[in-house]
Amino acid sequence: MLKKYLILILFLCIGCNNQDKINTLIYENQNILVSINYPNTEYKKLNYILKKDVDDIYNNFLRDSKYNDELNIDYKYTEFESYISIYLIAEINNSKSIIKTYFFDTNQQIFLNITDILDNTDKIIDILLAKDINIHYIYNYINKINFYIDNEKTYIFFNNEKIIFDNNELIFKDKLIVKNIKINQNRKVFSNKLFDLDKKYVAITFDDGPSKYTKQIIDILKKHNVNATFFVLGNKVKLYSDILNESIDNGNVIGNHSYNHKLLIKLNKEDIINQINKTNEEIKFYTGYTPTLFRPTYGSVNSTIKNNTNMDIVLWNVDTMDWKYRNINKIVKRATKSLKDGDIILMHDIYKSSAAALEKIIIEIKKQGFEIVTIPELKEIKKLRNYE
Ligand code: ZN
Repeated sequence: MLKKYLILILFLCIGCNNQDKINTLIYENQNILVSINYPNTEYKKLNYILKKDVDDIYNNFLRDSKYNDELNIDYKYTEFESYISIYLIAEINNSKSIIKTYFFDTNQQIFLNITDILDNTDKIIDILLAKDINIHYIYNYINKINFYIDNEKTYIFFNNEKIIFDNNELIFKDKLIVKNIKINQNRKVFSNKLFDLDKKYVAITFDDGPSKYTKQIIDILKKHNVNATFFVLGNKVKLYSDILNESIDNGNVIGNHSYNHKLLIKLNKEDIINQINKTNEEIKFYTGYTPTLFRPTYGSVNSTIKNNTNMDIVLWNVDTMDWKYRNINKIVKRATKSLKDGDIILMHDIYKSSAAALEKIIIEIKKQGFEIVTIPELKEIKKLRNYE
């Protein structure tokens, strides 16, 4: 009897460490668009508050939203040796709606305010007084003020303004040492595969990741000796830099899927360029790889997007609808039902069912006589055929 329980406990613990680093909810449904990304840390207390705040914003949006409304929740995250600083921003229809910040002491597991961490706040108080904050309320005010700290700067959020200090202008009670993230900046990527132009080729692509399922996906690809193309979000690159590097090392291709999954056709030129460039910079910084492929969010493109990037815009023609069905057999069927040479299959590496369907999809595709390649390889094959 005891043995039985032991086996059960061991089994339950296999997945214990496989926690997602970012909580993601992306969908286009019932006439609204939602894209939510925020950190899921190793600290329960911090996660609880983050989730509660995000849920409140999301539920209020669902209650008040009208046709075509778009909710976007994005974040910034810096992890120090003993602290985590998080900035959360919610936008509805691309206008700022709510900013929340969290500064968490990971040793004591408590939230700190700016007066807890600065030796003196005179500099900040002077600026606030100059902005007409009543002196009687200032200490109360400053204890509640929103702030975010990264490796270089401290940002104080005041009404709709942002006051920025260099960290070395301020005196912190405890030295803030940024936790190191492995970066790989000297990468060279090339494909030396030879293609038989008489064969049939398809490409599998994954959007919206990385996530905790990406590792499983790249392991399955490796096992079957094939590669896929991953269109990632810029705001996930830093926390998943390890998995991105491993993915590239295995021969997979990383493309750009915007910074925080806003519907790009509603943005102005500057914001579109920013979404694309910021993502490329994150990928380049953490992996050393310069992406050349761009997949617009929700597959929506307009001339502003086309005219303001020299990246290759990649859409798809086989939609598994995996985000909707979350059912392995349905996903396999949709991915492999009527494949043609040159097809591009769309999946998402943020769902368990998509990761679980992949192996069956690969086996079925091969059975039908196709080879699986990446998007740049598919482009190369098409080019070579034109030369024939
Ligand atoms: Zn997407």
